[in-house]
Amino acid sequence: MGLLQDMSGLLFPEACCVCGIETQKAERCLCHACRMELPIILSDPLASYPPFAKKFEGLLPLQNAFSFLKFGKGTGTRQILHALKYGQRPELAWLLGYMLAEELLERGLPTVPDLIIPVPMHKAKEADRGYNQAMVFAQGLAEKLACQPSDKILLKKRVTETQTRKNKLARILNMKEVFVLDAERKCDLMDKNIWLVDDVVTTGSTMLASGNLLAEEPIRSLSMVTIAMA
Ligand SMILES: [Zn+2]
Repeated sequence: MGLLQDMSGLLFPEACCVCGIETQKAERCLCHACRMELPIILSDPLASYPPFAKKFEGLLPLQNAFSFLKFGKGTGTRQILHALKYGQRPELAWLLGYMLAEELLERGLPTVPDLIIPVPMHKAKEADRGYNQAMVFAQGLAEKLACQPSDKILLKKRVTETQTRKNKLARILNMKEVFVLDAERKCDLMDKNIWLVDDVVTTGSTMLASGNLLAEEPIRSLSMVTIAMA
């Protein structure tokens, strides 16, 4: 695998996901300059990122809610999210998970997760893309935090219609029946500190619907973590 990767690196040099320049081997999908300029919004000392936590206030008991990167003009976050979704760059999701975990360990981890659960994609859509970026992000986090990622407990039942033209209540109702817990595996949730993760939180309806399902189980705590908040 290593040799093959080296060979493909010679034939198809990797480009930075944000600025597009050819990257050195050690930089992989994000060049050094863009890595240094990542718009990290984690506050210090680590606190909940208020606008994120506010989305769920009174709706779901959360221990922590935070995003890694700021979304906005000139930040590169849009390119990053686009590369994850359409650019076939799962390694970028992994790298961001790993980098976020490094940041968190440096600043003092708010809760040590036992289990990291990605917001699921529908199987057909995941097969099309070849990966669920939320799961790869979870794997990067879990690698550094020495805990388990699992995409076998929280599942998606059906493809959701586009959410953009619905109002908030309609979005919540639309989401309600979308997610399900695997009957045999949901016992793995018991007494666990769980991080529910996704690439981006926008309206919050997806995370709310899936978070609600998890919160109905006898878990110890629930936190929400995303790469970015739009
Ligand atoms: Zn770059």
